[in-house]
Amino acid sequence: MLHGISSRCLKCKVPQCRKHCPVSTPISDVMRLFEEGKEREAAEMLFANNPLSAVCSIVCPHERNCCGHCVLGKKSEPIKFFRIEQYLSGKFLTEYEPPVIEKKNIRVAVVGAGPAGITMSILLSLKGFRVTLMEARDKIGGVLRYGIPEFRLPREIVDRYESILTRLGVQFKPNTFIGSSITLTDMFIDGYKAVFIAAGTAKPNKLGLLGETLGNVYYAIDYLKSPEAYRLGQKVVVVGAGNVALDAARIAIRHIPQGGTVTMINCLSEEGMTGNKHEVADAVQEGIRIVHLLQTVKLEETIVKCVAVTVQKTETGTVYEEDFTRVTEIPADSIILAIGQGPQGAVTTDSDVSKTQRGLVQADENGHTSSKGVFAAGDIVTGPKTVVEAVAFAKKVADEIEKYCLEEKT
Ligand SMILES: Cc1cc2nc3c(=O)[nH]c(=O)nc-3n(C[C@H](O)[C@H](O)[C@H](O)COP(=O)(O)OP(=O)(O)OC[C@H]3O[C@@H](n4cnc5c(N)ncnc54)[C@H](O)[C@@H]3O)c2cc1C
Repeated sequence: MLHGISSRCLKCKVPQCRKHCPVSTPISDVMRLFEEGKEREAAEMLFANNPLSAVCSIVCPHERNCCGHCVLGKKSEPIKFFRIEQYLSGKFLTEYEPPVIEKKNIRVAVVGAGPAGITMSILLSLKGFRVTLMEARDKIGGVLRYGIPEFRLPREIVDRYESILTRLGVQFKPNTFIGSSITLTDMFIDGYKAVFIAAGTAKPNKLGLLGETLGNVYYAIDYLKSPEAYRLGQKVVVVGAGNVALDAARIAIRHIPQGGTVTMINCLSEEGMTGNKHEVADAVQEGIRIVHLLQTVKLEETIVKCVAVTVQKTETGTVYEEDFTRVTEIPADSIILAIGQGPQGAVTTDSDVSKTQRGLVQADENGHTSSKGVFAAGDIVTGPKTVVEAVAFAKKVADEIEKYCLEEKT
């Protein structure tokens, strides 16, 4: 089946799939190696370009990136390169043997063990730096472990990175929340040449409505960290219609008692839903009900109160407006809010790192912050994006950190 995929690929001279991949995966070259039976070389090429290739091949929004831009897709089925990538990169992780690297006497601290932090730790270790990876939680992965449901991304894949990091000589410091006892200043005093901040955006956005503190109202990104800790009851209502809302709804339907219901409330029209199309289809197939054009106005112990939203197409675009005369009450034993997230902020305490109005770390496209020796990338800089974008950004910054450390040394 996989050879059927590679033989259909046109190996375009100007591949649109590569152009639309945030990390520019050399898809045609990998396909060629795969067809020639050079699986190991193909997998090495993928890992060198994107150490998280095994993860991206599973969780990337392929319809927006490679697959969505395949020229064959205009008239027939696009090439599903990610299936070949999944096979090659998954196998490669189990076989990975790090090269022998002479270590430089330069230490770099990486704060946050999500996709950006893992990418940075691998790349800097391969460049010979001594890396300490500091993570607030007890395991690596960030959203890969504490957000994306296991049924979408097997944890076994995330675990494999743990052993790769160890074999590369990365020192992992679990349960270490930076910005509390340890600050960025302390790290420089202890001789770190550079610090890379990759703390993501784990703070849920508030809806700002009455009822948000009630005992049956939760935030999706908190719920996803440990769904088994919650007693949701029979009727669950998820407010939001993006990918995080979909994950929360799909996990909830697996955890509630038989006969229970999960309803998602979307304040826009069906076409306006921001969640990936195939995730929406999967959610509906699993029995999740999605109601559109309802704006939540109040959260109560047994209901979510909403008003209707009207939609009008005008010359300048689509206009949504609440109609406060049309009230709907949706029964709910528990309510999960998924309306975006932002940075926690603590990591830059006691430093002169500038932040944006949204509290994100201000960094240029190469990850330089306003503070000398402090770099940043991933969601903490861009706001919530995707795994592959966090990897692509971290990759760029790894080169900058290398340059900075070597220049500073001489
Ligand atoms: C529920 C959910 C589902 C998603 N699904 C997808 C998907 O299917 N596909 C996709 O491409 N993207 C998806 N995303 C987005 C993607 O996961 C993120 O864009 C990506 O994880 C960002 O990587 P990061 O390294 O910047 O941050 P994170 O993954 O958030 O990692 C940050 C890490 O820093 C740690 N940390 C935070 N503060 C501190 C501190 N002060 N000290 C020490 N450590 C700290 C955190 O514990 C965490 O481990 C999803 C996001 C969510 C929330």
